[in-house]
Amino acid sequence: MDSTVALDPKASTNPECFRSRRGIRWGAALGAVTLLLGSLGAATLDVKETANYRSITAALDATPAIDTHDHLPPFDLIQGRVETERGFGMNLRSLWQSSYYTWFNPLSPWPKSGRFDEWWTTARNDFDNARATSFYRYQLPAFTDLYGVDFDTISDAAVRRLDGRIFANYRDPEWIYRVVTERANIELMVMDPYWDRLGFGVQYPFAVPAVNVTTLIRGWHPADVPNPKDSPHQFAAKEGLRIDSLDDYLQVVERIMAFGKSRGAVCLKTTTAYERTLDFENVPKERALRAWGRPMAQSAPADVKALQDYILWRLVEMSARQDLPFQIHTGHARIQGSNPMLLVDLIAANPRTKFILFHGGYPWVGETGAIATRHPNVWIDSVWLPTISYTMAKRAYQEWLEVMGSNRILWGADAHHAEGIYAATEFTRRCLAEALAEKVERKELQKAHALRIGRQILRENALELFPSMKDRLWKKPGVILRPVVEGQR
Ligand SMILES: [Zn+2]
Repeated sequence: MDSTVALDPKASTNPECFRSRRGIRWGAALGAVTLLLGSLGAATLDVKETANYRSITAALDATPAIDTHDHLPPFDLIQGRVETERGFGMNLRSLWQSSYYTWFNPLSPWPKSGRFDEWWTTARNDFDNARATSFYRYQLPAFTDLYGVDFDTISDAAVRRLDGRIFANYRDPEWIYRVVTERANIELMVMDPYWDRLGFGVQYPFAVPAVNVTTLIRGWHPADVPNPKDSPHQFAAKEGLRIDSLDDYLQVVERIMAFGKSRGAVCLKTTTAYERTLDFENVPKERALRAWGRPMAQSAPADVKALQDYILWRLVEMSARQDLPFQIHTGHARIQGSNPMLLVDLIAANPRTKFILFHGGYPWVGETGAIATRHPNVWIDSVWLPTISYTMAKRAYQEWLEVMGSNRILWGADAHHAEGIYAATEFTRRCLAEALAEKVERKELQKAHALRIGRQILRENALELFPSMKDRLWKKPGVILRPVVEGQR
């Protein structure tokens, strides 16, 4: 911008100048410079440098968030602990191992010696090709904000200290509470307890469970649900219910939902897109019955699909009956068959069911917006989307806000340990703040309206969709949550 200083501003505004040859030259030069600066300005303006971004970020940080989806196991079950020189526990490698980074990036195995220095000798190069990926970058706010280190440029001495501090923090469950409820400023989260799907034991006072129905879609034969904690057959046996027919099975499934609801569950959840296509046909019962009563491996794949399709349609009806909105994983699992457009007939035929399309349908974020535009019974959950691609998430927030009401967009962290939850939350707040601040800067949105939308997405929309969560709100000045120590229960 300094180049403008050399120009005489009067030359551009005084019409006399343009009549002289010198003036014409000045005018032409100024025009060229203005064009150049205009294009440079558009390319280099970083909204994060603006006052609007700063104040929107501050408002979002101060909003106690309602996180619609997480997987935080009970403290002792948090994954990633290894045998170290200090003993068995969580360390730096655990945080990377139990993160999305390892989906497509290398991470050196933990050495038998348990020595951090031996691991870091090779691990320090693991990140070389991942530096720009969101699956790497989303974790960085945890290191900068919770530990005061820049992982991108960390020295060998600093990384060793970081490792020791992580290990020390995970000696005390209080770390989880402090990070989740205070640093990440999460008031409540919906937990998907994959470690105990039908037990609904979420074990944290800031968590409410979801009823994960993934195994119920394919679990009609006991052989296909070997884990007793997932088994509708075990549940039926405990409750004294018999499963002699498909109708019996579906009644048990609905009893599980009702039981989950009595334990505080606020929604259904399925990740079936990791296993099969989201193309669920409305098949007649006779067609569905062809695979009934046998393990899936003993039926033709088309018959298995037909029975799963039939069950899923009934689950969608139960979702409306039980008033449990249905969180459905869309996009980025298996790429084939996970386009949310495959759900449109199901959505249209079940207007009383509240569908929540997870992950914004990445990479089909535009399609997801179009579905929500046409179907008022659809909510879009941006859970995990900034973690997959920060840029696409920012674009998605802006596009969705242009095609649908701001009251049907949600968010969730979708992480597995305290640092991951903090990092994904912070990444989402920044992404949303950027999306909103750009609209304010471009004069497409009033600042006050942007602030309201930010609060809706981070908090209010979830409380409206899951009204029973309002009874669980606990944040008040002076109130903090801490783990209950054994013996004080
Ligand atoms: Zn998840």
